[in-house]
Amino acid sequence: MSEHLFYQTRQTRPFIERSEGIYLWDADRNRYIDGSSGAMVSNIGHSHPHVLAAMQSQMQKATFAYRLHFQSEIVEQFAARLAKKAPLGLDKVFFVSGGSEAVETAIKLARQAALARGDDKRFKMMSRLPSYHGSTLGAVAVTGTPPFADPFAPMMKAMPKVRAPLHYLDGLDPNDPATAAHYLKDIEDQILAEGPETLLAFLVEPIGGASTGALVPPAGYMEGLRALCDQYGLLLIYDEVMTGGGRTGTYFAAEHFDAVPDMIVSAKGLGGGYMPLGAVISRNDLVEDVLDHGGFLHGFTNAAMPLAAAAGMGVLDVIEDEQLCARATRLGDTLFARLKELQARYPFIGDVRGKGLLLAFELMADAQTKQVLPKELHAHSKLVDIAYQNGLIIYSRRTRNGAEGDHFMVCPPLITSTAQVDELVGLLDKSLGQFADLYLK
Ligand code: PLP
Repeated sequence: MSEHLFYQTRQTRPFIERSEGIYLWDADRNRYIDGSSGAMVSNIGHSHPHVLAAMQSQMQKATFAYRLHFQSEIVEQFAARLAKKAPLGLDKVFFVSGGSEAVETAIKLARQAALARGDDKRFKMMSRLPSYHGSTLGAVAVTGTPPFADPFAPMMKAMPKVRAPLHYLDGLDPNDPATAAHYLKDIEDQILAEGPETLLAFLVEPIGGASTGALVPPAGYMEGLRALCDQYGLLLIYDEVMTGGGRTGTYFAAEHFDAVPDMIVSAKGLGGGYMPLGAVISRNDLVEDVLDHGGFLHGFTNAAMPLAAAAGMGVLDVIEDEQLCARATRLGDTLFARLKELQARYPFIGDVRGKGLLLAFELMADAQTKQVLPKELHAHSKLVDIAYQNGLIIYSRRTRNGAEGDHFMVCPPLITSTAQVDELVGLLDKSLGQFADLYLK
């Protein structure tokens, strides 16, 4: 670790030298495949010339102009394009610099929208266990990963959580309507126990990110959740920080469901790693109500920066011009099938799941009984380190609420070629073999 810089732990990694397409090179010229697009960020790959040119062109005009001093044409254009990508009715955009800021913004907008309606009772945000919604205190309060929240408990109000529909662990068929009904009953019970009149909104990753390992909800779940929110007066907010930007095969994962949310929060793939960028896209009337009642008590100095908007526009151009959503579906199917082949050869891969290029596999001691590997093995970090030594970057999480084991996100950029999928799977195969030899014999 550097003398003057710190992150979560003392772990060190090589210095980055250069990145292009799906590859990164360290200072010793070792090459790595970006098998997780960083943290599911670099959806269009690294150093795309179109985005670099778009940023350069904006840099020659204005990089920053404080939003209260000037309007910016490029920021307006980008907002209009994002609104078009969101489901019908969501057409007001508030820009921020990342996912946690987007979640904070949605919480405050939901609260102010309730107050504008004269309802001051609703203040609780409901979310799921496990889930991850960010690192700031408000986002931690709605994050369903207790060790991230517990140390800060006296500083915030922990919000109510319901169990995510972990159907693969529960041995339930995701296509059987009874499965969704089972999890929805849990949610309704919890809503009634909390008191529906105190609940502001339900915050949910429509397709799970790293906390659940690319969990696809059972058929009918999102539609049922929408109906419950309507019945009890909760707003429905989709956390598309990870799923936005084409990763699941549609620009927003909302398109996969017959359930329109009241707000979408997004980040990561929006800026694609070219600039810190996030957004809340909200129902028009909610924003109008808040603006009519004293204004939105919120804002970040660096948000809505023209240079960030230029990067976001460039990324969106690439996603559209290169038809990367369709490509995510096609390539996702190929990669999913290849991961299933690995599962057939390595019995400790207990599950493979996901949608588009948001894919994950889970390691288990016994796939039949869903027994997880012992915690002390630290499989999540061991396999990541082995893969890293082999020149493959994957992203792991050991969910720390006791519900799950070690899972690994395999989410390369959407520009990956079929030959590069072969290369990635080859390195993963080698890494799994080495992991098994070292730790499971
Ligand atoms: N929400 C989800 C679903 C995420 O995956 C993340 C980050 O991983 C966040 C929110 C927080 O985003 P950020 O790290 O940009 O603050």
